[in-house]
Amino acid sequence: MKETRVKVQVIPVTEGVWCFRRPSYFACSYLVCADADVFAVDVGMNSDAEDFAQGLNELGIAPNRLKAIFLTHWHNDHSAGAASLKRRFGVRVYYHGGDEPSFTRQTASRGVRNWLGKHVPEEGILVLLRGLLEEAAPEAVAADHLVADGEIIEKEFRVLATPGHTTGHVAYMHEPTRTLFCGDALAVVAGRLRLMARPVTLDLSAARASALKCLGEDARFICPGHRGPLTGDVSQARRRLLEYLEAGGRWPLLG
Ligand SMILES: [Zn+2]
Repeated sequence: MKETRVKVQVIPVTEGVWCFRRPSYFACSYLVCADADVFAVDVGMNSDAEDFAQGLNELGIAPNRLKAIFLTHWHNDHSAGAASLKRRFGVRVYYHGGDEPSFTRQTASRGVRNWLGKHVPEEGILVLLRGLLEEAAPEAVAADHLVADGEIIEKEFRVLATPGHTTGHVAYMHEPTRTLFCGDALAVVAGRLRLMARPVTLDLSAARASALKCLGEDARFICPGHRGPLTGDVSQARRRLLEYLEAGGRWPLLG
């Protein structure tokens, strides 16, 4: 009998919200069930979306219930499965125009660099290297809608433009549960809020402003792009990082 490798761990966040975490890189996608509709925030890391499908299967949710995918940014560990899910199930895809050239592969590298990128496995600690070498999402994916700062999408989600980690990075606030899906605008490490590592941050001053913007939101839960959600002592964790940044705290090398 063929053994199915565990590609995701399913972690509950709050009622109707789950985190799908890949144990090989701790990259997180999220699922929000609102009545009959199901939404996803980020769908890395496998371009066949097999990892994401495993999470849905564990929750007993048929993939054709997925209505929309909200992408925080183009990096493949966040976006790789979007093209496949859109093609197979007609899922609507939302992202910001600032990352559109990378989502649609207009920026894709050529030659040896691209060849090398395609040979980086879609699992494990090197996964992001694949995207960075290819300089684009693994498969072109068009947006059904380009989001704008402050916009409400699919009735319950508010868009926050949070550039810095990438040009078109965005966060999404799920208003009914006050869950902030912050992508790589913030990191959570051992129950504390942190900044992402400096080498993977494109524009430090924009990223700092975006981190402050996220911290200013009255979120009950914070769901970052890696490691796992912050569900306890959120306001204290927010205050601690806010104070650090407001005091001019330096951007640590490793986040
Ligand atoms: Zn990223």
